[in-house]
Amino acid sequence: MLQIESELLLIIRSVREHMSETQKYCVGIDLGGTFIKFVALGRDFRPGPTLQLPTPVQEGPDGVAKRMVAGLEQLMQSQRLSREDVLGVGIGAPGPLNLADGIVVAMPNIPGMENVPLRDLVSEGAGIPAVLENDANAAAYGEFLCGAGLGARHMVLVTLGTGIGGGIIIDGKIYHGANTFAGEIGHIIVDPEGEECGCGQKGCLERYCSATYIAKRAERMIRQEGRTGKLAELLRDNGAITARDVQLAAEDGDKFASEVWDSGMYFLALGCVNICRLLDPDRIVFAGGMAKAGDGLLGPVRKHFKQLHWSLTDILTKIEIAGLGNDAGVIGAAGVAWNAFD
Ligand SMILES: [Zn+2]
Repeated sequence: MLQIESELLLIIRSVREHMSETQKYCVGIDLGGTFIKFVALGRDFRPGPTLQLPTPVQEGPDGVAKRMVAGLEQLMQSQRLSREDVLGVGIGAPGPLNLADGIVVAMPNIPGMENVPLRDLVSEGAGIPAVLENDANAAAYGEFLCGAGLGARHMVLVTLGTGIGGGIIIDGKIYHGANTFAGEIGHIIVDPEGEECGCGQKGCLERYCSATYIAKRAERMIRQEGRTGKLAELLRDNGAITARDVQLAAEDGDKFASEVWDSGMYFLALGCVNICRLLDPDRIVFAGGMAKAGDGLLGPVRKHFKQLHWSLTDILTKIEIAGLGNDAGVIGAAGVAWNAFD
């Protein structure tokens, strides 16, 4: 009888442990210059609803850390999570960062945010272990876990915005490199005699196909070469044009706009071929403002990719548009915490 009882106790304990195991969560926090976002992610990697609070820019680093802890507690309360339910917190922040020590080295849009031990401030404030990750890497990890990277093992995220950033996932893990500089896809050199880049190199990829430079190139060609068409009219009326203007005019059949857009897509495809040669990923995923062009981006990139790709094998890497939009970073930050604390 005693033996049966003790066996029963063992079974109950293991069921309880299993249940509490399946109910654990990690929380992701994404620090931006305007908003701080929060999300809880269970072991099934199905993200819950996100919470968004304004970034208290004027309150400096301590104010930012306090807002992060307050938001974390608000999120936990709304989802009825206790401290014991949360294994850890992942914080995504813009670089430069010292990942090993959890320090934000600089964040120009928040005054005083220099050499701030953000990881420890949040962890100590909340009483929950925390880990810091670069926001581009976190976004790549989010897409990998829950978005356009689902089912892939090796994935590269290319973020197309004012600049070009990225993140590399190899064998399901973020690849940081020896000095955490891996994934700076925007600074792959595509023309050694090309334009000078702010980074000190010449002919970096982002000088040819970021949203900023596609718009700039069109403006320059209109002003210096007297190019005409829809974009010239827009520039005259609005004083500026955007990459979106270029893409839409190209889709409408404007010859000059098509030329500028297609040139940008050529360089983007060139970057993708180089990524394939080096890393052979299952998938390359485009995110950021320019990815909203959808097929307007994928169509020409895939066309050039096919032409530039080697002929030794079929094309095995798929090129897709990101699926999580602006939530990739916060979801990925929670995923980073799962990786660190599970
Ligand atoms: Zn550069």
